[in-house]
Amino acid sequence: MSEATKGVIFIGDGMGGRPVPALDGQTSLEAQATPALDAVAARGETGLMFPIAPGIPAGSDTAHMSILGFDPFEYYRGRGPFEARGVGIEVKPGDVAFRCNFSTVEGHKIIDRRAGRIKEGTDQLAAAISTNMSMIEDVQIIFKPSVEHRAALVLRGPNLSHEISEVDPHEAGVDYWRCEALEGAESPSAAIKTARIINEFVRRAHDIMDGHPVNVARRAAGELPANVALPRGAGTAVHLQAFEDRYGLNGAMIVEVDLVRGLGKYLDMDVIEVAGATGGQDTDETAIARAVVAALEDHDFVLANIKCPDLGGHDGDCKLKMEAIAKVDRAVAYLLDTLDMNKTTLAVTADHCTPCSLMDHSGDAVPIAFVGNGLRPDDVTTFGERAVSKGSLGHLRGMEVMNVLTNYMGVAHKFGA
Ligand code: ZN
Ligand code: ZN
Repeated sequence: MSEATKGVIFIGDGMGGRPVPALDGQTSLEAQATPALDAVAARGETGLMFPIAPGIPAGSDTAHMSILGFDPFEYYRGRGPFEARGVGIEVKPGDVAFRCNFSTVEGHKIIDRRAGRIKEGTDQLAAAISTNMSMIEDVQIIFKPSVEHRAALVLRGPNLSHEISEVDPHEAGVDYWRCEALEGAESPSAAIKTARIINEFVRRAHDIMDGHPVNVARRAAGELPANVALPRGAGTAVHLQAFEDRYGLNGAMIVEVDLVRGLGKYLDMDVIEVAGATGGQDTDETAIARAVVAALEDHDFVLANIKCPDLGGHDGDCKLKMEAIAKVDRAVAYLLDTLDMNKTTLAVTADHCTPCSLMDHSGDAVPIAFVGNGLRPDDVTTFGERAVSKGSLGHLRGMEVMNVLTNYMGVAHKFGA
């Protein structure tokens, strides 16, 4: 019997795409030279993977959940709890958690949903909110900044509900919305109360932030003020089995976004911070790859994610996306050069497609390739959307990835006698 190997899932966030006319009908991934990803495809088994199910555009949170084997249809309770957990707020049963944007408004009108992509000063603004607004009615307000314009909000108190409408209209030039109880809410009184508290939170956050010294300085510098916090994605506490209990593997996560980091914390995985992992186009991909190698010293499994391919996709900038894909490729090259591939099973994939033509996630399948000891290589030699469609694994779903990986790792349990 061969020895069990370590396992790695390496994800280029949003790395899949659709044909781009300006790239002679190739996708960004096909057009970019990716020698390391191609080597994984050539040496291993390939296929296409629907992160959740065919045609369903996955969020990064639901996609990672599914890839780690937790059915998002069963377990997903909104994005808020992951974002909150990712910035270190414990979400308890009864809490309602939100993701927030620091935004710029004039009156109720949204000028910029990301407050000029503010990078500094949000910790002071968040501290001002915490100091001046610790309670609304009998509900505790817990507010913490995340990276750039992002933040998390948790409401803690009696009789709260996540069944409320959105505040953030997701576009500039229009008024933000009044939060209302959703029709048919399970507990109308809780939903009405929660909506009232959210409206009050937005109003008071604006009062606190508008004249704050951080914004006085931003206006003086010709920058947009971050003068409101707009909550969205209301969700309640999630109960997930620990990753180690589920798989018998000691797992680590090396990811750049708080949202996915929050999922790792829910799964009780070791969430490892990497200096130089910025979540942006300037991220240090080699530092991330080095951290994966280091984590494998004392973990059986590592999931890593490089965020930047998704950014170029959202911006509709396929050149930027190609540069980001080159970064993913360099990280994978480092892994192939450094790891003992007789003792490691590596999967490379994406968590969803972010086609430049859509500037958002699509429900298309993403390429996936596995390499390691004892696999049966197929005839595919490049890691592209169309090339891997001829691969031996056919179509997988996200929920099947851990099964396939643990089988190759030699740690899958026999089903039956
Ligand atoms: Zn993603
Ligand atoms: Zn995205």
